[in-house]
Amino acid sequence: MHQYLLHLGIGGIGIIRISGKNSFEVLEKIFKPKNKSNEIVGYTMKYGHIIEDNKIIDEVLVSYFKGPKSYTTEDMCEINSHGGTVVMKKILELCLKNGADLAEPGEFTKRAFLGGRIDLSQAESVIDIINAKSEREAREGIKQLDGFLSEKINDIKKELLEIITNIEVSIDYPEYDTPEVTNKDILKKIQTCRNKLNSLENSFDSGKIIKDGIKTVIIGKPNAGKSSLLNAILKEDRAIVTEVEGTTRDTIEEFININGIPLKLVDTAGIRESNDKVEKIGIEKSKKLANDADLIIAIFDSSKEFSEEDIKILNIAKNKKSIIILNKSDLVQKINNENPKLKDFNQNIITLSAKNKTGLEKLFEKITDMFNLNEINLDNDIIITNQRHKNLILKALENLNKAEKILKDGMPVDILEISLKDVLGNLSAITGEEAGEEILNEIFARFCLGK
Ligand code: GDP
Repeated sequence: MHQYLLHLGIGGIGIIRISGKNSFEVLEKIFKPKNKSNEIVGYTMKYGHIIEDNKIIDEVLVSYFKGPKSYTTEDMCEINSHGGTVVMKKILELCLKNGADLAEPGEFTKRAFLGGRIDLSQAESVIDIINAKSEREAREGIKQLDGFLSEKINDIKKELLEIITNIEVSIDYPEYDTPEVTNKDILKKIQTCRNKLNSLENSFDSGKIIKDGIKTVIIGKPNAGKSSLLNAILKEDRAIVTEVEGTTRDTIEEFININGIPLKLVDTAGIRESNDKVEKIGIEKSKKLANDADLIIAIFDSSKEFSEEDIKILNIAKNKKSIIILNKSDLVQKINNENPKLKDFNQNIITLSAKNKTGLEKLFEKITDMFNLNEINLDNDIIITNQRHKNLILKALENLNKAEKILKDGMPVDILEISLKDVLGNLSAITGEEAGEEILNEIFARFCLGK
């Protein structure tokens, strides 16, 4: 309770919400309406006073919501008092003294979920709306609260249930269909589900990109052309550059937007200074930067053979989302994209001249492709913004792939059924039918009090 009071702010109006089957009883003990009628009608307000020992504590308006048509699905009332801390604290104490308990953070929304009014993903969107930093983020939250995501998930669950029913029918009535027909049908349905889950999963990256930009680092040994490339990108006519402070004190991040490609260039300061005698971005630092980047641009001087240091840089770029730039294409090239050391990067090699600014278009096109930027349709598609949902979708995809393999290997259908039920379980955890108590507690603990 102390913590609650510490967070209490001052406002013109303060609201104390009571929910549960005894809410009206508690209220009756402390509230004297002006109009003495005892009838309680949902969606109405009464004017009156909060009273303690015949003393008026405050002049208030009380709204009544009768369950199940309330935020929590229970009987609820909200005391609209004056928003000063002293008065609010007093009314809260009176409520507690007369039989109410202090709510946990997120308890109202939790009750709405437990009461079946909203599912878990909708409940979670309430936090997103409250915490949104931009209009765009808030809009995603509201879409989710409206049930867009739940609808998508339920749609996939329905298809899975159909497959499971098919399997059960084929187990019970083997003469009903030939196994070949059933298998082909099931395979097709599994693929449809996978496509839908994949596009949901991909949307997480889009959402993150729109919000945060593609966190990009440029790495390469001294004189490969890092700072020339950076300058070429920044001087690109259509680049809108915003300098933002880096996460650590000595880095500068530049947020640039080229043809709708949001790039957040990290540690550009280091690159700028790399013309000093001492090379600022060493291999170790490059490794560190590369670790939490969304995109690595590794640049090489293609007029020289790969050196040992170049190989180290290639190793950093391996297994990550990276683009290899063979720079200095205006000179006689010693390495091209057929070089055996580049075999891991097949499609992602760009030859350009940073100095002459030729070939940059290819770089931008490549980034657009790699991050599916052309496919992001912000208004019509639902975007996954919640890490928990993304993890569950990944698990669902894993189990779906397992199911496909079981089917293709001709293993018994009851094993297939188990895998599919696992997928169903993963999806149900998003909407909350199968989220454990621990997960629920963790989710609702992130809410503020009173929500
Ligand atoms: P950094 O140390 O990786 O930042 O490399 P810089 O961008 O400072 O470039 C090192 C040297 O290579 C400079 O003299 C640049 O002018 C030169 N350079 C960079 N890009 C090109 C290019 O595309 N062609 C040629 N011929 N020289 C380049």
